[in-house]
Amino acid sequence: MARYTGSVCRICRRENLKLFLKGDRCFSDKCAFDRRGYPPGQHGQRRGRKISDYGVQLREKQKVKRMYGLSEKQFHLFFERADRKRGVTGTNLLVSLESRLDNVVYRLGFVNSRAQGRHYVKHNHFTVNGKKANIPSYSVKPGDVVEVREKSMKNQMINDAADAVVRRGIPQWLDLDKETLKGEIKAAPIREDITMPIQEQLIVELYSK
Ligand code: SF4
Repeated sequence: MARYTGSVCRICRRENLKLFLKGDRCFSDKCAFDRRGYPPGQHGQRRGRKISDYGVQLREKQKVKRMYGLSEKQFHLFFERADRKRGVTGTNLLVSLESRLDNVVYRLGFVNSRAQGRHYVKHNHFTVNGKKANIPSYSVKPGDVVEVREKSMKNQMINDAADAVVRRGIPQWLDLDKETLKGEIKAAPIREDITMPIQEQLIVELYSK
């Protein structure tokens, strides 16, 4: 599966938004977006470029897809599932992305970024309801308990991330016991829990063409 392997800071600059893809660095003065907040490339600093409606929709989709670190195929699959569910498709899409296990371990502060979350989930560092969970796309449900496995409790990266989570804060749909590194899903996330500026309707319009 093709995965983006270039500079992730370039993505923030391309999408004109801090996407917080690099953990602690995003909160430091080394953040590339803070230092060069214009699109990358030779023509990045050109002013007054017109962007079509299609372009606006495409950028919104790319932004969300890259924020959650998915390939086009995976993202489209999430969209199709969201479209089949009852309710508002755009909201369904964001809620299902937010419920992914790799995102949940990031939100709980067990890792510094979703990319690291995906990597650590695949390497069996977490359990869900006491059972091994190594599928990053696993969708958590209210009542689920996500824990750092005992053998991973001494992992320095996990402990450093748990200390650094204070900067981001933990969303109200999750509950964390910092001593035992145990997180509980109190409720399903709702649209208001996702605070990044996202216009999901643009994604729905793009895929409805
Ligand atoms: Fe984006 Fe983080 Fe890089 Fe800043 S440091 S540009 S927020 S990935």
